[in-house]
This record gives sequence, C-alpha cells and structure tokens, in this order.
Amino acid sequence: MDFTKEIKSVMEPLAKDISALCQIKSVEGEAKPGMPFGEEPAKALHAALELGEKMGFRTENFDNYVGHIEMGEGEEMVGILGHVDVVPAGDGWDFDPWGGVIADGKIYGRGTLDDKGPLVTCLYAMKILRDAGVPLKRRIRVILGTNEETNWGCMDYYLHQVKPELPTVAFSPDSQFPLTYAEMGMLQYTLSKSITEKMHIAGGSAFNSVPSSAEVVLSADLEEALKAAMAESEDPAMFAYEIENNELKLTVKGVGAHAAHLQEGKNAISHMMELLSRMPIGGTLKEVVDFYNQHFGTCLFGEKMGIATEDEDGGKLTLNIGKVFVKDGSLTFWCDSRIPVRIPVEEIEEKVKEKLQGTGYSFAVASKENSLYVPKDSKLVSTLMEAYRTVTGDRESQPMYSGGATYSRTINNCVAFGCLLPDQIDTMHQANECLALKHLEVWLQVMVEAIYQLAK
Ligand SMILES: [Zn+2]
Repeated sequence: MDFTKEIKSVMEPLAKDISALCQIKSVEGEAKPGMPFGEEPAKALHAALELGEKMGFRTENFDNYVGHIEMGEGEEMVGILGHVDVVPAGDGWDFDPWGGVIADGKIYGRGTLDDKGPLVTCLYAMKILRDAGVPLKRRIRVILGTNEETNWGCMDYYLHQVKPELPTVAFSPDSQFPLTYAEMGMLQYTLSKSITEKMHIAGGSAFNSVPSSAEVVLSADLEEALKAAMAESEDPAMFAYEIENNELKLTVKGVGAHAAHLQEGKNAISHMMELLSRMPIGGTLKEVVDFYNQHFGTCLFGEKMGIATEDEDGGKLTLNIGKVFVKDGSLTFWCDSRIPVRIPVEEIEEKVKEKLQGTGYSFAVASKENSLYVPKDSKLVSTLMEAYRTVTGDRESQPMYSGGATYSRTINNCVAFGCLLPDQIDTMHQANECLALKHLEVWLQVMVEAIYQLAK
C-alpha cells in the first residue's frame, strides 16, 4: 500500500510532537508519592499518553510506572515496547539538550533517537493506518516504560504486578535498523568501599555510558609530577588542571559512548586512573588507583577482571566503568558488562565476586538481564526484515547480534527493530543527539509497513 501522501502530510506535526516530548527532562529522579521514578518521567508519560488520546486511541496509565496506547480490534495483539525516560544530557552540547530545537533539517535534543522519536513515529504510523481505514486483524498496543535507562523497574512492575495480556508478536524500536535477533546478557553492578580520608574523585553519569569526563583533587605540590605524567601520555590533550588554595584539580576529557559500543568511546575514568598510576600519590587514593588498574585498567573486555570470553556468534564480553563518586564516606564504582548470548549471566557474576574477595570492595547487583535470542528464520524476523527491505531497498544489511539491551528481551517473541538507519550517525547517549527529518520520514515509512504486515 502506498501512503506517501499521508506520510508527507504528517511530517510537520510529527517533528513538533517529538520536539515537545524531548523538552521534558525525563531523567530518573527521586521517587515521590505516586511517581516511582520522580516527577519528570511521570510528566513524559502523561504527555505521551495525552498525545495518544488526542489521536483517538485508548490509553491507560499504570501508577506512573508504565502506560499503554492501543488501537484496533481483535483477539491478538501486536506489541511495541519503548520508553519515555532518557539518560542525563552530559557535556559537550552545541544546543540546549532540552530545547527540542528544530533547525537545518534536524531535531536536536536528548531522546530524539532514544527513544522518544521512535515512539512518537510509531504512534503516527498507527494513526495513518487507522485514518486510511486499513483492515487489521490484530490490535496494536504501544507500551511506554519510564525507567528503561536505569534499572527497568517499570517493566518489572508491569510484568509482575500489572500482569497484563501479552502481545502475540512484538518489537522494540529502541535500537537500529534493520533488526536485532540476539542481544547479549547484561550485568550491572556497584562496587563500594568505605573510606575515612577526605577525597574528591568523580566521573561519569550512568552504568551504560562511557564517561566523557572525570576529575580528581590532588595536593598542589604534585604539579611537576603531573606535568611529567601528562607529557608521557599517549593523548596529553585529554588532561587539564588548575590550582587554587593549594589544591590541584585535574580534569580529564574522554569520549562518551553507549556501553554496548564502548569501543567507540574513550573512558575518562580509566585514563585518569592510568595517569595517576604514574604519579607519586599515596594514602587511600593510591589504594583506589591500584585497585582500579589491577581490576579494570584501560582494557574494554574484562581481561583484568578475569572474565574475558566470547561465543561462536561473534559476541565478545565487554566491561564498562560508567561512574565513580564519593558520598557519605563511601567510594563507589558503577560497572556494566555485556555477556555473549550463550553464556549464563550468573557465571560471570560468580567470577566477579570471586575476583573481588579480599579487596574490601562490596559487590551489589543493580540490574541483571538474560540474553535475547529469536531465530533468524522465525516468522517475526522475516516479516520485519521484509518490511524494512521493501521500504528502504537495502537488501544487504542483515539481522544483528548486539550488546545493546532493549525491552525486547523482557517478553517472548519480541525483537529490536529500528530506528537508527545504517547511514544515520549514532548520537544516542551522547552530546548533540539529533534526528534528521529525512531519516524521520524513512522511519515512518518503515513503521507503517511493518505494523501493517504484523497486524493485517
Ligand atoms: Zn532506549
């Protein structure tokens, strides 16, 4: 079916609705009564549900954990799983990350790619099918989470407290085109140790992001040693310092990236620890630096933790240190490992615990997800692949194996489908996250076709 005209006619309101939703700073905040993940994620959920309602769909809010937007009739249901929460903005933006600016054929803002843009696109795809009166056998339900970027508490509540009817087939538009049939297991954990010495060391913002900045305060008499260590670095431009009141503050600039593609980033914490290891520091800071370099270092694949492994599909275990901070007399690291689909997450958990014995660091799981695997020759994969190929003409891109974690692994018969196109620059979780309108139009074309094929 050809919906070219309908698609063109909604491009402007679609872009505006994405922009409006991206202006809500829906980073997880402090829980409040009736708002389990803080005010902003709840606000984003309300705004998305309101948009669905305005389009004439049925909506439901489950205690500000999760919401539904549903259309159509039929016994069976097609599910679309996404989320309205976002990661913090981080540094290095050329635009206001919460401004929803539309300029030069792009929408700029946190959430344009991940995941507000894709969700609003799916709603418009549903609207186009409904308005055209296309007969469909299955209902279509968009499921909106509010806590995806941190610990998936929304989906947990949804599946175990709400216990909803589950879709027959589903996809999560929270990754890339064409499609991801296998997603690695995931283990996010904290390592903490109480410290008595006053210390300032900080860096990063989330488990699943490669830290783009880090800082530490040292004694000013270390200036010469620092200069020497910086001069010997492979990339001295990463480091800068200033001295005030006899304190030397070292700042490190890395390159942010999603933990699922940590090879594309440069971990500011790891490079700071490497630099510090070449300086004559002492006390607790030295212990922390030694621990870091013995267990993490600048390697990416868990070599020093003793958990490096891969499977026959080509998946290789990764280990990201996403954050370090000192609070209330305790130093904490946030760690994130992606684990090959055929290796049990528990096996890696045990190895990490074993390795940490006797170090004084306590280990606590923050989030644990088993892998996703839907066979490449399944009806779901072939239907979605065909929809993508028909619209884009791209017959080369193949179903993928990924380190990313989407909601598709939380229910059966669900894969990750969209929305980053092969020629689209990935700015998810990074500075200057943006969405070109020409790509948005392709997204909408693919979603109209995909939803039609799954629901007809
Ligand atoms: Zn996402």
